[in-house]
Amino acid sequence: GKGDARVDDDVTIPGLPPLLRGHPDIHLRNGVMNAYELAAAGEVDAEKAFFVADLSYVYRQHLRWKANLPEIEPFYAVKCNPDPYVLRLLAALGTGFDCASMGEISQVAAINIDPSRIIFANPCKAASFIRSAAKSGVDMMTFDNTDELYKIARVNPSAKLVVRILTDDSKSLCRLGLKFGAPLVSVPGLLAKARELQLDVIGVSFHVGSGCYDSSAFADAVKRARSAFDMGKEAGYEFNLLDVGGGFEDGSFETTASILKDAISQHFPNRRDIRIIAEPGRYYVSKAFSLAANVIARRAPPALERGSQDVDVDPEQPSVMYYINDGVYGSFNCILFDHQAPQPHVLSLGGSFHVPASVPLRASSVWGPTCDSIDCVCAVTQLPETLQVGDWLAFENMGAYTMCAASQFNGFEVSTVMYTAGGGADAAEVRAVLRERGQ
Ligand code: PLP
Repeated sequence: GKGDARVDDDVTIPGLPPLLRGHPDIHLRNGVMNAYELAAAGEVDAEKAFFVADLSYVYRQHLRWKANLPEIEPFYAVKCNPDPYVLRLLAALGTGFDCASMGEISQVAAINIDPSRIIFANPCKAASFIRSAAKSGVDMMTFDNTDELYKIARVNPSAKLVVRILTDDSKSLCRLGLKFGAPLVSVPGLLAKARELQLDVIGVSFHVGSGCYDSSAFADAVKRARSAFDMGKEAGYEFNLLDVGGGFEDGSFETTASILKDAISQHFPNRRDIRIIAEPGRYYVSKAFSLAANVIARRAPPALERGSQDVDVDPEQPSVMYYINDGVYGSFNCILFDHQAPQPHVLSLGGSFHVPASVPLRASSVWGPTCDSIDCVCAVTQLPETLQVGDWLAFENMGAYTMCAASQFNGFEVSTVMYTAGGGADAAEVRAVLRERGQ
């Protein structure tokens, strides 16, 4: 088919190193749907769930960032999705990286990222990690408590410190303030202690919470950061770094960007000597990955079994149970840890990938493959009456906080990734942009 050709050149950005060429494990295809169809064509294990990563989406998100927040350098939050090709793409595009552990620092260092492009943005670190990070040349790190200052003074006294302040995270899916962030009232004391220990504090960071659904949280946080800058001056420091953290959402990005820019202009009118960075995670990858999962089993009440005429079931109550080959212990851990509610759409029906636009639906539930009953992907959802074992379901927006936290509980493997250059008019446009940039 026409979308089936190998397009190894398409994600090569002129002027940047080839991202994917020469990696035999990569199937680079035109069109996300085609990747699902690989399953039907027998090119992937017909019974294995798999991700489809559209790398052109990550690239477009970067262009969107540059267009809306040209003054703010993104340091991609590796924890969100440490996919090696996402990291390679972002490295080639020149972003920095927010690492939470020595493992993440090593992964980023392995793709030849200069340590100056890494922030160790975990306010509570093991001493051994601080030591290893220093050996790798990573000096920039966050803190929010006195104990951390003593530890850093002992292990890496030349570290460049960033004080993480507490902000209002009540309008976020994941309230990070429960665990991290120094309340403003404690900041002068922390800075005095840092001075006493002869440590170099270079700036302020915050995180409004992951999955922030109220953009105004950023305005309030920037205001608090301004106060912390003033406290720095009082303590004898000349701060030159503002780190506005993560929490950016795809859907509200332009609104957030505009609120953030206004707040920065208002509170940091003279910012010639201030470097502003951010730690976006979800923003870059959430929509870039979708997951295809196979229906491996089905349990229906006898009244709904094939050939039965008796359909006396409550249409509101889920009657048919579908079991798919990825679940809450795997990629769908985002249901528990990231407060997500993924919804399936039907990729194949009765063995055919040509699913009619309208088919009779029935209230159903979708379950993961393990033997645990907490492993429920959708408690109630409307699915076609004729959905059967062997059919495929797809879940969109599966790029953030999914496979990175997946376990192999019950002996199930973590779903693997197929990479594409995207599909449709959008992708053609991106390819044109890519070509232009090289000319
Ligand atoms: N920075 C830090 C310190 C974080 O803890 C997180 C997420 O937990 C992020 C950045 C990324 O957040 P998001 O994916 O919401 O942009």
